[in-house]
Amino acid sequence: MDTILIKDMLALDADSRSVVVRGWVRTKRDSKNLVFLEVNDGSCFRSIQLAFDRTKGLSADTEAALERAATGSSVEATGSLVSSPAAGQSVEVAAAGLSVIGDAPAESYPLQKKKHSFEFLREIGHLRARTNTFGAVARVRSRLSFSIHEFFQKRNFQYLHTPLITASDAEGAGAMFQVTTLDLDALAKAGKPVDYSKDFFGKRSYLTVSGQLEAETYATALSRVYTFGPTFRAENSNTTRHLAEFWMVEPEVAFARLEDNMALAEDFLKHLFSCALADCREDLEFFDARIQNGIIANLESVVASKFAHMTYTDAVKELEKSAGAFEFKPYWGCDLQSEHEKFLTEKVAGGPVIVTDYPKEIKSFYMKLNDDGKTVRAMDVLVPRLGEIIGGSEREEHLDLLRTRLAELGLKEEDYWWYLDLRRFGTVPHSGFGLGLERLILYVTGMANIRDVIPYPRAVGQAEF
Ligand code: ATP
Ligand code: MN
Repeated sequence: MDTILIKDMLALDADSRSVVVRGWVRTKRDSKNLVFLEVNDGSCFRSIQLAFDRTKGLSADTEAALERAATGSSVEATGSLVSSPAAGQSVEVAAAGLSVIGDAPAESYPLQKKKHSFEFLREIGHLRARTNTFGAVARVRSRLSFSIHEFFQKRNFQYLHTPLITASDAEGAGAMFQVTTLDLDALAKAGKPVDYSKDFFGKRSYLTVSGQLEAETYATALSRVYTFGPTFRAENSNTTRHLAEFWMVEPEVAFARLEDNMALAEDFLKHLFSCALADCREDLEFFDARIQNGIIANLESVVASKFAHMTYTDAVKELEKSAGAFEFKPYWGCDLQSEHEKFLTEKVAGGPVIVTDYPKEIKSFYMKLNDDGKTVRAMDVLVPRLGEIIGGSEREEHLDLLRTRLAELGLKEEDYWWYLDLRRFGTVPHSGFGLGLERLILYVTGMANIRDVIPYPRAVGQAEF
C-alpha cells in the first residue's frame, strides 16, 4: 500500500490503486449515505476528497471515526484512488477505513471553516500554517529560497556564512540589537557602571544588520560569493515592510561595476519570478484570485520586459513635477520616502525601476564616489506596491577615497582596519546588493503585510511564539 503525499496522489491516474491518506481535515459533509472529507497535508494547495459510501458497508470503527473527524483533526484513511465526479479534481479516494489520530474539538479549535482576519491569525501563529493562505506563503517561501541558491550556484557563486554576532557597530545599515551576557539588572541594583571589557567578547557586541562587509572580504578572494541568512535591525517603525528579524540575500562580486550589478539584480529577480510562476502555480492562482488580483499576469509581464533605469537626479525631477501629491516634499538631497518610491515605479516607470547615483550624504560610507564628487554609485531596485526591494552599490575600492569618506563622516579608521586592508592589498572594483527575502515574497504573493510572509514575525512589541 502506497503512503504518499497528497500532492503526488493528485497527480496519479485513477487506477483504483490502494492508498493511505494522512493529513488534517478541512471540511466534512455528511449527506445520508455519503460522507465527504476534505483532507489536506500541506504538500500542495489542494486537498484530497475522501468519499465514504455507507451503502458499501462501513465498519463500526470507521463510523465512529467519521463522527469524530472534525475540522482540524488529524486522520489516516485507506481506500482506492478513483476518478472524481466533482469539479476541479481528477481523482478522489473511495475510502473504506478511517481512524482519527488526534481530535480537534469544534468548541475549542480556533480555526473553524470560515474566513479569519490576518490580524486574528497572527495571534494564533502556531496554527495559521494550516490555512490556505499561510500554507501557500510557506510553500512559496520555501521554493524561492531554493531558487535563490539555484541562481547563484549555477553562476559559480560560493555560498558564504557571515557571522550573526558582530563586535563592531561599523556596519552602519541600521539600528542594532545589543548582545550581552552581563547581568545588567544586578549592575544597576549595585549602582555599578557597565564595563563592557568584562562582557563575553571583551567589548560591546551586536546582532548583525548586514553581512556585506564580511562578504567583501571573501569576494576579494573567491570572486563571487553570496550570503543568505537572518539579519536583525532594531527598526522602531511599525510599517508593513519592516521586520526586526528578516532574511537577506547579499551577493558580492569582484571586478563588477555598477552596471554589472544592475544586470545581476534584474536577472536574479526575473529568475525568482519565473521559478514562482513555474513551480508555485496553484499557490499563485490562489493569491491571484483571493489576495491580489492580476498578480500572475503582472509577474509574467515583468519577466518579459526590461527594468527601467533612472538616476536619482532625474527621479527627483519627476517627483518635483507632482510634489503636491506627497506628504514629504521631494527635493534634491532628500532620502526617497516610500511614497516617492511607489510613485516612481507605479506612475513614472509603470513597473520595476532601478534608481542610481544617489547623493553621498544619504548613502553609506563604502559606496563609490562618482566623478561629480556629489553622488555615489548606488542602486535601489523599486517595485510597485512596495518601493525598495533591493539596495546595492559599487564599493569604493580606492584606499585614499575611502579614508576621506570615513573622516568626513567622523568614523574611526581603527574600527575598519580589516576592511581598509582589502584596499591596501590586491584591491579590485567590486559590487553587490541586498535583497530582503520577505519583500520578495510580498511582491510575488501580493500579500500586504510583511508579518504575514515569515513564519514568526519579530517586530516592535512582538516576539510571541
Ligand atoms: P528601507 O529603506 O526600505 O528601510 P534599507 O535601505 O534600510 O531599506 P538596505 O540596508 O538597503 O535597506 O537593505 C537591503 C534590503 O533588505 C532592502 O532593499 C530590503 O529588501 C531589505 N530590508 C531592509 N530592512 C528591512 C527590514 N527591516 N525588514 C525587512 N526587509 C528589510
Ligand atoms: Mn537600501
